[in-house]
Parts: sequence; C-alpha cells; structure tokens
Amino acid sequence: MSPKARGRHFFANPGPTNIPDTVLRALDRPSIDFNDPDFAPVYEAAFAGVKKVLRTDQHLFMYNASGHGAWEASLINLLSPGDTILVLESGYFSEEWAAMARAHHLEVRLVHADWRVGVDIADVRRALAEDTAHTIKAVCVVHNETATGMMISLPAIRAAIDSVGHPALFLADTISSLGSLEFRMDEWGVDCVVGGSQKGLMLPTGMSFTGVSNKALAAHAGAKLPRFYFDWTLMMNRPHKSFIGTIPVNVFYGLRESTRLILEEEGLDNVIARHTRLGEAARRAVRVWAGNNGPTLFCLSPDRLSNSVTAVMMPEGFNGDALRKTVRERFNVSLGGGLGKLGGKIFRIGHLGDLNEPMLLGALAAVEMGLRIEGIPHGRGGVDAAMAFLAEG
Ligand SMILES: *Cc1c(COP(=O)(O)O)cnc(C)c1O
Repeated sequence: MSPKARGRHFFANPGPTNIPDTVLRALDRPSIDFNDPDFAPVYEAAFAGVKKVLRTDQHLFMYNASGHGAWEASLINLLSPGDTILVLESGYFSEEWAAMARAHHLEVRLVHADWRVGVDIADVRRALAEDTAHTIKAVCVVHNETATGMMISLPAIRAAIDSVGHPALFLADTISSLGSLEFRMDEWGVDCVVGGSQKGLMLPTGMSFTGVSNKALAAHAGAKLPRFYFDWTLMMNRPHKSFIGTIPVNVFYGLRESTRLILEEEGLDNVIARHTRLGEAARRAVRVWAGNNGPTLFCLSPDRLSNSVTAVMMPEGFNGDALRKTVRERFNVSLGGGLGKLGGKIFRIGHLGDLNEPMLLGALAAVEMGLRIEGIPHGRGGVDAAMAFLAEG
C-alpha cells in the first residue's frame, strides 16, 4: 500500500506538459460566442503569437484535434491518392505518420534508420537523387522524435533536398520541439509544419495547427485526397480563416497567455536556452547512472540529443515501467514510458514547457531514488552531476 500522494504532482512527461498557473487562470472563463467582438482581439493575438513562435509570415490553419489531426491535415491538403512520400524513420512517431499516410492510399517510401542513431543524411540525398522522375511529392520528417529523445537537423534535410534540386514539399512535425527548441519555418524552407497545443505551448491537449508555405498552398490547389473538416480552402473562406466548426474559445485565452509568456515575458531565445541547459543537466545525470552497467542514454548520436526529452535505456533484465510505477507511487512523479516496440525497455524524462531547475532536479532525484529502491544497478551521484552543471550555468 502506498500512502496517498501528497504535495505537488511532479509531471515529467514529454507531453502533455505542465500548464503555467497564468495559463490556467486565462483558461478559466465563462463561454462567449466566438463571433463576439470581445473575442476578436484574443483570437488575433493568439494567432499572431503562434506565427511568431513558428517564425513564419506565411499561412496558419488551426484545428480542434490533437497532433494526429494536424498530421492528417498536412497529408490530405497537399497530396492525391497514389502519391509517393518519403518518410524519414526516427521512431514511433514517424511510424505513426507513415501508417496514417498508407491509410490515405499514399505510397510511403522510408529512409530506414536505427532508432538510436537516426537517419544518415546521405541516404536521404540518395533517395531523392534516384527519384529523377520526381515521383516523391513530399519529404516528411519528425523534427524531435519524442519517443527516442532525438532531434534531426531540419536545415540539413533542407540542404539535402536542395542539393539534388528536388521539388518535393518539405513537411516537418514540430509537436515536441516548437516553443522549446530552435525552429525557423521560413528561414529553413519548411513547407508544412505540424504543431500541437500540449507540449511546448503548455496548453491542454486538443488544439493543433499547421504552418503552410506559399509553395504548399499552391500544391494544395491541385491536391485530390478527400477532405472536409481539415480543408484549408473551406477554412480560407470562413471569417476566422481557420477551424471548421466551433472555435475553442477558452483555449485561445490560454494560447494568448502562453505565447505572451514565450515571446514577451521570457523571450523565445531565452526559452530555447533554458531547454538547452535543462536538457544537458538531464543527460549529465544519466551519464553518471550509466556507471556500474546502469541505465544509458538511448540516443547514441551526440549531435542529435534532444533538449526537450531524454530517453533512458534500462539495463538488460530491468523494466522501465516498474521503475516508473515506483517513482509515481512513492514520490508522485510521472515519467514517460517506452512507446511501441520500446515499451518497458526505456523510460523518458520530459523537460519541455513550464519547467525550471528545481523541477528537473526533483524528477531526477525521484528517478535516482527509484533506481535504489528497485535494486537497479547504476552509478550514484547523477543528481549531483546535474546540480554541478546547473550551478555553473
Ligand atoms: C505528441 C506527438 C505527436 C502526437 O500528437 P497527439 O497530440 O498525441 O495526437 C506527434 N508527433 C510528435 C513528435 C509528438 O511528440
């Protein structure tokens, strides 16, 4: 029997993420008509805020749907039945996006990758160079693979596409990187960006969106997959230029506040710097735990380690879900589990969104205590290493 958990629930999942108190206060409002003139400035400020976080001056379409809905929007608005897309394998989320594409009768060509290493950019270049007939209509990349704690450089993918002069659209899933890691839609030449409310934007789940380039909007005009709820053309003809159906008014009060926190109160560059610092601290702890044949960083590519989520590989014979259960029951700390084929093999520490040093250290300390309690071999002093790094930074 575990005593009823007291104190604050420490939420160290990589999505959803902690919702800042001022965002909670902003969400807490009675209903108003979304055509009410009082709502217009809220909608406009939130809409403009998301475009700034995307670093785009192009188009934005929003949906009442979780991130999966925005994935679907990106495919059905840009492609026609039988079209071929190139999906860069990264982990569970690239698999899901590819599976969705197949369900829509798209031909999926995969650039295979070891989930611990990530794609070889030369393989991406080769796949595009071999496609002299330009059969590939879109290149799909998960910027930050939340399931493995790996970030792929989008400018490197853009360069690979350009190096062979391939005209394919460039689609990027930034659901767990937007508002926490560096991302520049226009500068990096991304044609369609998939984002969601419940990760870096620190809101409840349920609203997602796509940033869309002028090039993508031109392709949209000829795309023939069936669509309605996510149809950009229908949206452009409605007064709010987004959403089919009722606009989630309360979410927009929250979104206005969360984009204000990111852009004005802290500043986007400082947000990114904070995530860089916290990500490095988490990794320093894991590297110490790796002693004595303990848990190790799942991602083996040093230049691709994600600053918003750290995936930790359990030592052979130990289950990550048992550790998570102990940590949750004893210390009221929630960690992410392994997704798909990584179930039980890894656990994930989310460090994105509304988070500071003591919150991360609390989660790391709970993990280190969990390792002791469960008798899992590890090097002691991971939290010390994280503290030493953060104290210096
Ligand atoms: C969370 C996540 C998704 C899925 O979003 P839902 O809101 O759960 O539908 C897709 N891609 C990435 C990279 C994610 O982290």
